[in-house]
Amino acid sequence: MVQLEDVLRARGRIVDTVKTTPILKSRQLSEKVGAQVFIKSEHLQTTGSFKIRGATNRVIQAKEEGAKFVTAASSGNHGQAVAYIANQLEIPATIVVPTDASESKVSAIKQYNGSIEYCGTTSAERIPRAKELATELDGVFIPPYDHPDIIAGQGTVGLEILEQVEEVDTVIVPVGGGGLSSGVLTAIKEKKPSVRVIGVEPELGNDTQVSLEKGVVTPADGTDQTIADGLRTTQPGDLTFPILQKYLDDLVLVSEEEIRYAIRFVMERIKQIIEPSSATTVAVALYRDLGLQKDKVVCISSGGNVDLNKLSDLINVVGE
Ligand SMILES: *Cc1c(COP(=O)(O)O)cnc(C)c1O
Repeated sequence: MVQLEDVLRARGRIVDTVKTTPILKSRQLSEKVGAQVFIKSEHLQTTGSFKIRGATNRVIQAKEEGAKFVTAASSGNHGQAVAYIANQLEIPATIVVPTDASESKVSAIKQYNGSIEYCGTTSAERIPRAKELATELDGVFIPPYDHPDIIAGQGTVGLEILEQVEEVDTVIVPVGGGGLSSGVLTAIKEKKPSVRVIGVEPELGNDTQVSLEKGVVTPADGTDQTIADGLRTTQPGDLTFPILQKYLDDLVLVSEEEIRYAIRFVMERIKQIIEPSSATTVAVALYRDLGLQKDKVVCISSGGNVDLNKLSDLINVVGE
């Protein structure tokens, strides 16, 4: 299992690439929740999401091990992160994306000199292709969450929170494949176990909740329906799941409408653009009664990559 030491080592490796993102404090959000609420702003991170942390920790080591080429299977934030760090390290990267990937996502990858290969519409098609490409060309496939280096890299968010928010009581983290959450849990629970860490998933993508209930990794259907596109994974990872099982204090669900309201709230009151996966944590603070009153609460804002052509669609809620 990944340990605190791995997260500390990851931090040393990625420090020149990755920003220590700001903690934003919102009086309006705090008043509404009745707690001191802070936002750990990974939407202001290099490439627009925390994914650059794990990708950097993994690609740097792959290069040291002799990799001449890297691949990934993601049109989203992980794909951008791998393309960015590969470009920095002067290794070619090929990112395998679905045939229906949006032009804005593809162009974000191209701006970091990543090559694009289109393949199928599901990750079940893309992942084998990205692995195959890596083998053909003497390269390394960079997975999005289920790898010790990825988990350790994402865990550096947790170290920063402990340093930036003195006496933090509760941290809220989104759970997709579980790389971010298991990394943050490792850092926080091994440094300061009294901090409560709450995971959040969309109701439409509750694979980790189901897995925790059953005590075993269990795939869920229909997770592609949520607007939180970073949380559409169908199951937690084999490496991330035991960490979630061991350390998560609670896992809560939010509805699509609550996610939309949270994006609106953050835009209107805090003047930040965050993506739906990221807004899930703010939605928990706003709409779940977790006894947060008087706590110091950190909502991890995991990313800010939104296709602006679709923004009005995302913040459109019925009844306003
Ligand atoms: C990938 C991603 C997540 C989920 O992270 P996991 O490590 O897969 O749990 C959450 N938010 C954003 C913005 C992401 O890109």
